[in-house]
Amino acid sequence: MYRLFLFVAMSSILPNWLYADLRLGVFEVDATPAIGSPLAYDPMREATLPLSCRGVVLTGEQQPIVICCVDWLGIANDSADLFRNTLAQAVNTSVNRVVVHTLHQHDAPRCDLTAAKILGEYGQAAAHYDVPFIKDVVSRAGLAAAQAAKEAQTVTSISTGVATVENVASNRRLLGPDGKVHTTRYTACKDPAIRDLPVGVIDPQLKLLAFEGTRGPIAAITFYATHPQSYYRTGGANPDFPGMARNSRQSSSGVFHLHLNGAGGNIGAGKYNDGSHENRQVLAERVAAAMKLAFDNRQTSQLESVDWSFRELVAPLAEHLNEAELTAAVADDSTPYALRGHAAEKLAFLQRTNAGIQLQVSRLRIGANQILFMPGELFVEYQLAAQHMAPDSNVMLAAYGEYGTQYIGTRVAYDQGGYETSDRATNVSPRIEGVLTEAMRDLLAASDRRLLPSDYTERTGALPKRD
Ligand SMILES: [Zn+2]
Repeated sequence: MYRLFLFVAMSSILPNWLYADLRLGVFEVDATPAIGSPLAYDPMREATLPLSCRGVVLTGEQQPIVICCVDWLGIANDSADLFRNTLAQAVNTSVNRVVVHTLHQHDAPRCDLTAAKILGEYGQAAAHYDVPFIKDVVSRAGLAAAQAAKEAQTVTSISTGVATVENVASNRRLLGPDGKVHTTRYTACKDPAIRDLPVGVIDPQLKLLAFEGTRGPIAAITFYATHPQSYYRTGGANPDFPGMARNSRQSSSGVFHLHLNGAGGNIGAGKYNDGSHENRQVLAERVAAAMKLAFDNRQTSQLESVDWSFRELVAPLAEHLNEAELTAAVADDSTPYALRGHAAEKLAFLQRTNAGIQLQVSRLRIGANQILFMPGELFVEYQLAAQHMAPDSNVMLAAYGEYGTQYIGTRVAYDQGGYETSDRATNVSPRIEGVLTEAMRDLLAASDRRLLPSDYTERTGALPKRD
């Protein structure tokens, strides 16, 4: 089938801000649903720990920039638009200067208003999404962001830090000598033999960017690539170990903390997590230790300039997405609950993409630091390639923006099999690597334009061949 495949480059032509103009405000609203609301897999029974929607607003002579992150599984399609448009209006900026990400917790809500509309035609929306609650969080986030812009404090300098997170991230995709995925090491792994297998390709580094004011740091933003699950399907909403690490850092440092998930699509704590409940706190403390180290050892640099740029692109759709089949699955009352929800989410992404609605990849540059904001459950190889293609910059990356794509593998990974690149789990084709890589190169002003994320994908493993 012929698919329209466009790549439209949109570049910011706004001049850089001078450092003297920069101010930063912070906001946070509660994002915990009510008991009985649907979490991603089960109805909510209790709020084990509150979920948060938080962000920063950068203001200055140019239009504001908003970076927001929510403790939910994913924010997709029309709901991503609603979030971004509401925040943009709240601070009087362009929607292209607003990014909304999630930390991808699983005892937390899904958020896809397009899928909700599709399911609503069959009276099924409320079983999957708490639409009034979603809209309430968006509207409270807008009010809080507007207030943050008003109360923004002068940024006198920025600082950056880095620390290795010990024994948390591990690659989920374990290959046999034939180069195919032999075993998936899920986020909780009870089998010690699978836990003992090599770590695989990860990015062990947690990076930190802090905005300093006249009375000390105003906000810290951290980036670390991993699925956030210790255990789930408890019915108890909670922000899991990365959110717990963030919360403990914010309360012990007194500095507002925004944590963003890196390209953790094929990464989880499985090697270091047997799923026991006490291990959640252990993982949280390992992440918090790296957050503290990066913060305590941060290096301050003078503000030179601040620049926002973005690219819009049409996602190359996965060949398996079939509108008639997905529509039939959504319409059929005998479709199991989870599959019906997934079919609606896939249909939502398919219909929007076919209508020409594009994905945005964005880049914030502050002096020698470049921060990429990417869609989907991105594989860690994108993050490693981004760092190497711009070796003169300190590159940080947040994934889990627009969630409609679901998993985004490397080109090579799509040939290797495994869960993440299966029809169930990804809504984009292997051509996504080329499209995203071109956008990353342009935004980062890459000095090495030959590097591809696939260059970082392992090709063979030590496990025996599947029979
Ligand atoms: Zn995931």
